[in-house]
Amino acid sequence: MMSHYAPPVQISRPDTLSKVWKISLIFGLLGIWGCRGPLQKVELEHAAMGTRFRIVSYHRDPQKVGRAALLAMEKIDRIEQACSDWNPDSEIRQLCRTAPSANPVSASGDLIEILSLAIEISRESAGAFDPTIGPLVRLWRRCQQAGRLPRPDELQRARRAMGIESIIIDVDAGTVQLLREGIGIDLGGIAKGYATDAALKVMEAQGIEHTLIDGGGDISLGVPPPGRGGWRLELEPNGIGGGSSSEGGIRVIFDDRGAVATSGDASRFVEIDGKRYSHILDPATGWGVPGPHAVTVHAAEGAIADALATAISVLEVEQAKSLLDSFPGSSALLFDPAGGPPRVLGEFPGMTNH
Ligand code: AMP
Ligand code: MG
Repeated sequence: MMSHYAPPVQISRPDTLSKVWKISLIFGLLGIWGCRGPLQKVELEHAAMGTRFRIVSYHRDPQKVGRAALLAMEKIDRIEQACSDWNPDSEIRQLCRTAPSANPVSASGDLIEILSLAIEISRESAGAFDPTIGPLVRLWRRCQQAGRLPRPDELQRARRAMGIESIIIDVDAGTVQLLREGIGIDLGGIAKGYATDAALKVMEAQGIEHTLIDGGGDISLGVPPPGRGGWRLELEPNGIGGGSSSEGGIRVIFDDRGAVATSGDASRFVEIDGKRYSHILDPATGWGVPGPHAVTVHAAEGAIADALATAISVLEVEQAKSLLDSFPGSSALLFDPAGGPPRVLGEFPGMTNH
């Protein structure tokens, strides 16, 4: 049978190129294809949020994909500007400097949406996911640099500045008011999934529906390309993609829209006195989750999958199950550090070699 597909068009955007150059590079490469031919696989990359985003689309007109992808990348950059904990001029860092505030402060639509969702997931997870974890995250960063563990008094002080009840959001007015002095909002556990969702929406609004956006392991999936049975991914304990199933990866075929996200300490952990602690912290104790650990969540949306994966990294199995129950259609794989098949919570779709 003849394939609908032409060979892939793979374009990476080296970060050192100027924007104008990058745009003309993309269109120069794409311009050699017509718009009525077979479906083309087009891949573009964009460095943002400390990772490399990948946009993979199937469409007859690669030029149209290129134009839409530039808009999607701009959207990702705007979300980074709103949410970054590393950039002191980001919207969230500026907002935190207003605390304690006697009055509500205007905030962007993206920030209101992501904060509202973060608070909802914090409530549903009984605080295992906590967007006010910033003071603890900073304490652990300082201790990592000093090569020591945090002291109990330091942990206590950082935890005192936490608490979602001191964030007041007025969605209709588009404002946020932060009541507690020293509050530090850290959206690192949800922002990438939110960004992959937002980028996918941009692509879809431009008519590019067969699109996958990968934000370094947080993946939003649009309508699968026809004739392939679905989106084919490989999930690994150490992240997503790259490995072969003989090394313990799990091949999945997602035949519908949705999202998948992985949290773990494979590349981000602190080792102090020979013991490994994750960059994911347990808000109840202040301690890094003991490693190694990895969890992959499938959910309807990227922001939800991202935040649930972070929360489940902290939770016991029974608590994780009830958290997944509050988000219909969500499921998880808990990878065993010793190897072997993962534990499946809920109905994880599309596993082919399990
Ligand atoms: P992820 O890789 O999506 O699991 O996100 C990890 C990041 O989320 C960390 O680097 C912190 O910035 C932040 N974080 C750590 N622990 C938590 C937590 N318990 N709840 C919410 N965010 C967290
Ligand atoms: Mg996460």
